[in-house]
Amino acid sequence: MNRYQHRSWQAAVAALGVLIFLSGCGSPIDAAVNRLNGAKQEQPVFRAIAFPTDEQTLAPGASYSLTLSGITPANRKVELNSDQVSYTVSNPEVAQVDSQGRLTVSKQAKTGSSVWVTAVYKQTRATMRVRVIVPLKDTIKIDSNGLAVVTNPADLSVVVNKHRSLPADYVPADLIQPNIPFAGQGDLEKKHLRKEAAHALEQLVQAAAKQNLHLVGISGYRSYARQKAIYENNVRKNGKERTSQFSAYPGQSEHETGLAIDVSSPSAHLALDESFGETKEGKWLAEHAAEYGFIIRYPKGKTQITGYAYEPWHIRYVGKEIAQEIAQKGITLEEYFQGK
Ligand SMILES: [Zn+2]
Repeated sequence: MNRYQHRSWQAAVAALGVLIFLSGCGSPIDAAVNRLNGAKQEQPVFRAIAFPTDEQTLAPGASYSLTLSGITPANRKVELNSDQVSYTVSNPEVAQVDSQGRLTVSKQAKTGSSVWVTAVYKQTRATMRVRVIVPLKDTIKIDSNGLAVVTNPADLSVVVNKHRSLPADYVPADLIQPNIPFAGQGDLEKKHLRKEAAHALEQLVQAAAKQNLHLVGISGYRSYARQKAIYENNVRKNGKERTSQFSAYPGQSEHETGLAIDVSSPSAHLALDESFGETKEGKWLAEHAAEYGFIIRYPKGKTQITGYAYEPWHIRYVGKEIAQEIAQKGITLEEYFQGK
């Protein structure tokens, strides 16, 4: 009991004494006690305050009414009036909150960005995370051939798969050659990646080298024209149906984004097969890629979702924030966009 509560009890006892003196009977005392209890119920003492959830996923431009509960010592939840609570956000460029507790995500906010919302009620705090995801349906349009084409080909979080094609004329504007060991000689198209991905890959390969692990670039960027030639060659050799199981239709290869690269190691004889996943390099890559903003894009057991068999060698740059969330949750890029 704090000093203030002591004083109010003293005041209450004094008030009761006066009531007893004045009335000389029991009933006003009960009434007074009831009034005191009533006052207590109106402003219960909370051991904590809490949001209904720790994490909320919202689209750019979306609004959300924040609600907050007080938790009594008996674990009862009491919803708090919004005018008694003050809310703040950690990054007003991503989301803002008004005096009514209504949170609105900025229209320009990007997939992967997030804010912490802090609520303060009588010096008690609670926090929740709001993360921003642009729904996949908002980044697609159906072209005149009935093909679903992405409208955000240059986004670091772009999803390209068997249901989402890149525009045939898309060429990344910032392709460079990362300074890492590559298989093969010469300045080849496949030795390029987009700038941010290229620099992240340099750091990843250097970090591996410090552990005496040797990663080698095999195949990075691939133009639409090159993918078309590869696909058509495969169809000639293997037929359309078999080809679709291992070779992407032009526009649907992630390599065309300039954000994906196949890597291997001398320990796997520079092969692109499952054996790479069993090497020290492959294991290190699976464990540490996310620290550099990369994901293993086609993990084991997720073929139904990604459309591809396990490829321990194919890494995709999405930026650290998204990569680390995907790695921690053990999900795929597709599942990330489903809000998992
Ligand atoms: Zn690949």
